[in-house]
Amino acid sequence: MRKPTQCVLWNEVGLTPETLDLEMVRVFVRSEHIERDLLKCCECGQLYFHEWYEHISFKHDDDMYDTYIPIETEEEIQQLLDTKTSADLAKFLPQLHGSYTNNKNDGLRWIEKPEDF
Ligand SMILES: [Zn+2]
Repeated sequence: MRKPTQCVLWNEVGLTPETLDLEMVRVFVRSEHIERDLLKCCECGQLYFHEWYEHISFKHDDDMYDTYIPIETEEEIQQLLDTKTSADLAKFLPQLHGSYTNNKNDGLRWIEKPEDF
């Protein structure tokens, strides 16, 4: 995927899912533990495929993961929708990835190489 270097999301540091200025374009999946949708940057119009995924934990609060993958074409959307599990999205880079694990919000950061996870 192309790096969205023009986008405020690419250049800003310390982003959280709550502070992103994104508009809902399309909803793909809504279920109890997984949500997938298409979002658009309100500023530059960059499209992002977004997944929210919740992993049930019995020891502490549930773990939650947010992934934003910059996309440009319908083919790219289809490729992403064809993935079966949340883990399959890891190979689509770069991506903006964030997690809430062990009762702690880890914030969002860009992953450009597999070893960045
Ligand atoms: Zn933007």
